[in-house]
Amino acid sequence: MSRSSTRSSAPEPEAGPGSAPGSGRGPGPGAAAAGAAAARALRGARPASFWLDQPDAPAPVARLHGETTAALAVVGGGFTGLWTALLARERDPSRDVVLLEGRTVGWAASGRNGGFCSASLTHGPANGFDRFGPEMPALHRLGRQNLDEIAATVARYPIDCGFERTGELTVATRDWQLAGLGHAADLAGRLGERPVLLDAAGVRAEIDSPSYLGGLWDTRGCALVDPARLAWGLRRACLDAGVRIHEHSPVTGISRDGPGLVLATPHGRVRAAQACLGTGAYRPLLRRLSHYLVPVYDYVLMTEPLSASQRAAIGWRHRQGAADLGNQFHYYRLTADGRILWGRL
Ligand SMILES: Cc1cc2nc3c(=O)[nH]c(=O)nc-3n(C[C@H](O)[C@H](O)[C@H](O)COP(=O)(O)OP(=O)(O)OC[C@H]3O[C@@H](n4cnc5c(N)ncnc54)[C@H](O)[C@@H]3O)c2cc1C
Repeated sequence: MSRSSTRSSAPEPEAGPGSAPGSGRGPGPGAAAAGAAAARALRGARPASFWLDQPDAPAPVARLHGETTAALAVVGGGFTGLWTALLARERDPSRDVVLLEGRTVGWAASGRNGGFCSASLTHGPANGFDRFGPEMPALHRLGRQNLDEIAATVARYPIDCGFERTGELTVATRDWQLAGLGHAADLAGRLGERPVLLDAAGVRAEIDSPSYLGGLWDTRGCALVDPARLAWGLRRACLDAGVRIHEHSPVTGISRDGPGLVLATPHGRVRAAQACLGTGAYRPLLRRLSHYLVPVYDYVLMTEPLSASQRAAIGWRHRQGAADLGNQFHYYRLTADGRILWGRL
């Protein structure tokens, strides 16, 4: 185990469900043994983001000093803010766009995630049909279009982020989950997709884990990326397109100014006609938005590069992203240099 990814400080995330006080029950003996095994396995691991820790990470651009104006002020330099700023300039190259990031672009969830770029807007067809029923064909079509357009943007700029359209393999690790795979295949069929349904031998021919009992491989609906490089590439595309980016410029307040808005930072202000708030799970600038915000904690670990024999033992020649069917599911993928990223929601 070489490096792991954690969340870090400032801007501080809102307290979420994970910050609730514990139940007061102590761990049992099984939990203690598992904890000791985990501690052994993690010895030598570094609590840093593997993706963000790259030698060619871009140097930060200047913070905002003084007063400026913009047609559109974007707050937050994660994927939400970066795509918004880039699309705004693509649609109207004369529009003056400023992006304000409290730390550095891609520093937060966008630069430290699993890198699964999924077409599904609903976390899979079963959840989508349950919640959105008749709207699912439209949601499905828009999700596929979205992934195709992300792929086209990555190719057009071009952004070197290891974009691999490997698809995603959903695996059953319990007998009762097998019926769920069949059901998901049927629902995908209703949407015009033909995912590959695999029995135990079939799934183990893809990724040879003794815990796999079956699988469903959506061969086109997911791409894998290096998320930090995607964020840095979008940052470069924004700068080239004329977006004015200021890093280390946290917005501390937003207020009305006639028909427009004023966004304040510690060393400057932006007067803007419109603003887009892309601040992710962090404290929202408009208090009323906090009612719509539920931070979800998600963790990833990165192994060392696998040896040739370790790799041969598990196969994985199609390099798919993989995820199990647990409610708090596990997901895993390969990196360009042959590590495995493990994630748990
Ligand atoms: C460990 C982990 C694994 C994940 N895996 C996946 C995955 O495989 N696939 C997937 O689709 N999603 C995954 N996610 C979720 C995904 O990363 C997020 O949904 C996504 O990155 C959110 O992007 P964002 O731009 O909305 O927010 P963020 O990336 O959090 O960006 C918000 C930005 O706003 C800035 N900011 C906040 N407040 C202010 C302020 N007041 N002024 C200026 N700047 C401010 C922050 O510094 C930050 O840079 C994962 C998340 C985690 C944590």
